Amino acid sequence: MAIENVKCLIIGGGPAGYTAAIYASRAALSPVLYEGIQPGGQLTTTTTVENFPGYPQGVDGVQMMDDIKSQAERLGADIRSGVVSSIDLSRRPFTVVIDGEKTIEAQALIIATGATAKYLGLASEQQFRGMGVSACATCDGFFYRGRDVAVVGGGDTACEEALYLSGLCRKVYMIVRRNVLRASRAMQERVLSTSNIEMLWECNTQEVLGDDAGVTGARLLRKDGTVFDIKIDGFFLAIGHHPNSELVSEWVKTDENGYIVTDGRTSRTNVDGVFAAGDVQDPLYRQAITAAASGCRAALDAEKFLLENS
Ligand code: NDP
Repeated sequence: MAIENVKCLIIGGGPAGYTAAIYASRAALSPVLYEGIQPGGQLTTTTTVENFPGYPQGVDGVQMMDDIKSQAERLGADIRSGVVSSIDLSRRPFTVVIDGEKTIEAQALIIATGATAKYLGLASEQQFRGMGVSACATCDGFFYRGRDVAVVGGGDTACEEALYLSGLCRKVYMIVRRNVLRASRAMQERVLSTSNIEMLWECNTQEVLGDDAGVTGARLLRKDGTVFDIKIDGFFLAIGHHPNSELVSEWVKTDENGYIVTDGRTSRTNVDGVFAAGDVQDPLYRQAITAAASGCRAALDAEKFLLENS
């Protein structure tokens, strides 16, 4: 198959990638964007987004991503479904293979591949994945209507998931490894004042319990040494994310946690012509609005680079 030449290739269809596509289209870079495994990114697994400016009543996460995508397409971005299978950044133009079959040569590349939910690493957790173990309450919570479930974690995501589940389920346990929540004060107050959320402080999960039909419980170890079981049908992980940088980490510098390192206030990576935007390069803020803003920066940086290097 013929190799396609692209001026600006964007990998990742979340707020960062779509926003980069909006700016790159307006800069006449004819951007091509591949959406990857989760078109729309992590926001498509959330419910209402209340903190993105411009939506006084909040907005559904899926709807918002559809809107940003449509905006990019209206401006001329070529948004495609497809997953990058390999990349060669050893020289420019960069070579990117999509779905193991289509080869693209790109003059500039914007990496906006986002981040993926972390799991605890227990064998039993993997055994029951999709059978009661989930990292997305808003995707799977529906199945646990009227049942008892647990959420692991103490950050904003865990609180958000616990609150969401508390509206569906009979009881929600929050399994928190310390005696405090990491979440923002507003979230903490909401969780702690919800009557069907029970906090299990200073607890770690030893094992997810289950049978052929799926999860039936969890075995927990409290800091004081007590081991006890809870009966649950759903076990939800909300313990953070890891950046999806593996594809490029052979060439692009990453930090000790795998986040792509960018140069100062720019989106430039250590490879000339390769830019990073969104959660894959942001261990700190990880918000839709900051991801969108970094997508904008990446497109502006790519535009400048292409002007100076074509
Ligand atoms: P965080 O990193 O903020 O929190 C992770 C939580 O999981 C912490 O409580 C952590 O415990 C716990 N944890 C981590 N590893 C383990 C483990 N192995 N076993 C048990 N517990 C574990 O991640 P979030 O996904 O919650 O949030 C990420 C970012 O996104 C934050 O900046 C957050 O503010 C933001 N966010 C904002 C929202 C909003 O504004 N509406 C909604 C959701 C997220 P410990 O505290 O002990 O480290």
